[in-house]
Amino acid sequence: MNYNIIIFFTVGIILTWVQREIAIPLCGTDISLVIRGHDDSPVLLYNMHDNENTAAVAGRIIAMNYGGQYYELIHRGDRNIAFVFDEDSIFIDPNRIYTDAGIWQQMAKNESEDSLLFMEIAMWRDSLLSILNLNERSLVIALHNNTNQFYSLLSYTSGGEFENEADTTFEGKIRDMDDFYFVTDRHIFELLSKGRYHVVLQDNELMTDDGSLSVYCGQLGIRYVNVEAQQNHLIRQIKMLIYAFQRLVLY
Ligand SMILES: [Zn+2]
Repeated sequence: MNYNIIIFFTVGIILTWVQREIAIPLCGTDISLVIRGHDDSPVLLYNMHDNENTAAVAGRIIAMNYGGQYYELIHRGDRNIAFVFDEDSIFIDPNRIYTDAGIWQQMAKNESEDSLLFMEIAMWRDSLLSILNLNERSLVIALHNNTNQFYSLLSYTSGGEFENEADTTFEGKIRDMDDFYFVTDRHIFELLSKGRYHVVLQDNELMTDDGSLSVYCGQLGIRYVNVEAQQNHLIRQIKMLIYAFQRLVLY
C-alpha cells in the first residue's frame, strides 16, 4: 500500500469518527451530552453518572475499536444532577428519571410535589430520550461503576437487597461479585451466561418502577445490558464489553 492510500484511509477514518456535544440545560443549569461514534450505529453505549469515570474510559475505548455510538452525560462530576428550581436546590439521579413514577420519587426525596418542577424534569427527560433514540437501537449498553461490596451479584441472589427484582441469576467463574451484567432480555441472559461473568436477568413483570433505564427498557421491550464493574476495574470492564459485543453484536 503506498502512502497516498494510507493517508486516504486515515483521513476517511477521522472524518467518519464524529465527536460532538449537545447542550441540554435543566432549569438553566448546564448539562451536556458528549457523543462519539457513528450516528447510524444500532448499538448505544451510555455513561450517565458523571462520577463513574472507569466506565467512561471503557465506553470511549470500545466505541473507537468495536463500533457503537457512545454518549456521556456531563454535568459537574457527581452522581446526581444539581439545579435550582424556585430558589431551592434540587438533586436528581440521572438513572431514576426515565419514567414518570421515578421523577415523582426523586422529587419526594427533595420534599417537593410541585407539578411545575415535574414538568421541567419530564421535558428534560424527554429531550434526553429523543437524542438517545433508544427505540431505533438494536442494543442499549449502559456503563456503570460501583464501589466495593455495596452493590453486586449478591444484591440479587437469595437474601439480597434486590432479590425480588431479579428473574434469575447466573454465577460466573470470576471471583469478584461487583463485576456483573444486568440485562432485561432472557435471550441476552442465556447468551451471556455461556461466559465467565456473572449475569442478572431483571424480572420485567415484578420489578419496582424506580425510574431507572433498565425499568424503562424492560417496560418497552428494548434490549438492554448494564455492564457494571467496580470503580478502577478498567480492564475487566473493557473485557466484559468486548465479550458482550462478541455474543450480542458481532455474531
Ligand atoms: Zn452508575
